[in-house]
Amino acid sequence: MKMEFPGFDRAPIDIHTHFNHGAEGEYDTPAYAGTHRNGLDFLKGEYARFGIGAYAASTYAAVMSDRGIPEENAFLHEMLRADAQLFQWVVIHPEKPESFRQAEELLEHPRVLGLKIHPQLHGYRICEHGDRIFSFADRLGATVLMHPAAITEMPRFADKYPRMRLIIAHLAEQAHIEAIRGAKHGNIYTDTSGGLSVLNRVIEYAVEQVGSEKILFGTDTYALAAQYSRIALADVPHSDKENILFKNAMRLFPRAFGE
Ligand SMILES: [Zn+2]
Repeated sequence: MKMEFPGFDRAPIDIHTHFNHGAEGEYDTPAYAGTHRNGLDFLKGEYARFGIGAYAASTYAAVMSDRGIPEENAFLHEMLRADAQLFQWVVIHPEKPESFRQAEELLEHPRVLGLKIHPQLHGYRICEHGDRIFSFADRLGATVLMHPAAITEMPRFADKYPRMRLIIAHLAEQAHIEAIRGAKHGNIYTDTSGGLSVLNRVIEYAVEQVGSEKILFGTDTYALAAQYSRIALADVPHSDKENILFKNAMRLFPRAFGE
């Protein structure tokens, strides 16, 4: 029997991506020249090819370096006007108070989903700065999308700041599962973005262990053919695929994606 590619009632939502736009400090790996593209035109062509309805981004320049974060946030925010499928993560940095002020303002926009942090590329320890970041998110009832860092410490912060929601990106490890399970208010989530979603049991195991309600679809610019079909063809019930591909995003961000 041949496996058929399933159809879905709603267009999937890519909760985690980035793009280059000619700024300084962008994603640039000479070894991948020609083999991996990061421009929005290319990515949008792929979204159209697969019928992806929405994509939430921060620019590469804003996460790859800690210079020019507010300018990058402002640049992307301006792009929301011209692109109805584009949604925003506002990048903040704990040592840059202006990024917090800006975030507070931009978060009022219905197509701004929350805050993006990248402790690794921004060169700080999340445990040292977690209170500053997560108390801010808690006060605003905001969602934080975090590049994985000190995953095992995250339930402690999630329990202390129950009004914030934390998405630990790039589902891959046992630690992701344990962090989700360890948050006593249920406010830790993960996304499927990144190359490690091709681990051959990762989606199935996570659904089994913590339920599909905790998992959101993302690409992080990796091949949409692989990222999307990894979920669409996963060995889990159809309703779990719907949760991951769009229902969870609609539930977590009703203002952005409606019901
Ligand atoms: Zn990212």
